[in-house]
Amino acid sequence: MEASSAVNAPVHEYALLPTGEVVFSPELLESCKTNVCGNYNKSWTCPPACESPQEQRGKILSYKQILLFTTVHNLEDSFDYDGMTEGRNLHAALTAELKKLSGAPVYGAGSCPICKDAEGNNRCAFPAPCPFPEHKIGSIEAAGINVTELSKAAGIAYNNGPNTVTFFSMALLNDVN
Ligand code: SF4
Repeated sequence: MEASSAVNAPVHEYALLPTGEVVFSPELLESCKTNVCGNYNKSWTCPPACESPQEQRGKILSYKQILLFTTVHNLEDSFDYDGMTEGRNLHAALTAELKKLSGAPVYGAGSCPICKDAEGNNRCAFPAPCPFPEHKIGSIEAAGINVTELSKAAGIAYNNGPNTVTFFSMALLNDVN
C-alpha cells in the first residue's frame, strides 16, 4: 500500500463560505448503510468507523469558514470510467497537496483517497490502523453534508455540462490573510 503522489490539477471554481451557512443533513447517512457507494465499513473516513455526524458537525462549526473548490475533467462520454478515475485521482492529489501545504482539516467527496493498492485503486487500510493519519482526508458526505446543497450555498456549479465530471473538496479555515 502506498500514499498517492501529488499531481497538479487546475482548480475550476472556489469560494469561501462561513461554516454557519453549511447545511447539515445527517439523515442522508442512512443511505450509507445500503452501501450504495461500496465504501460502507471499508474506510476509516466512512460509517461506521468515522466520527459520528454530530462530532463532525461540531468540529466543522469550531472553524470560521470553509474553502470549497472544484476541479472539472473532460470525458469521452458518460460511460468513460477511465476518464472519471483519472479525474478523481488528479483531484485527490490536489486535495492531498492542499492538506500538506495548509495543515488544515480537509474533506473530499467520497472516502479517503490516500492509500492505493498495487493496481492504483483506492484501498483504505481499514480495519488495520491508518498508516498515514497526518494525510487522512475526510468525507464531506460522512460529515452529513449534501454536496449539492453545499455547492448552491457557495455559488459553485455542481455540474459543468455534458461529458464532464466535477469533483469537490473543502478545507476548514479560521482567519484567511
Ligand atoms: S490515509 Fe489510508 S488508511 Fe488512512 S484513512 Fe486514508 S485511505 Fe484509509
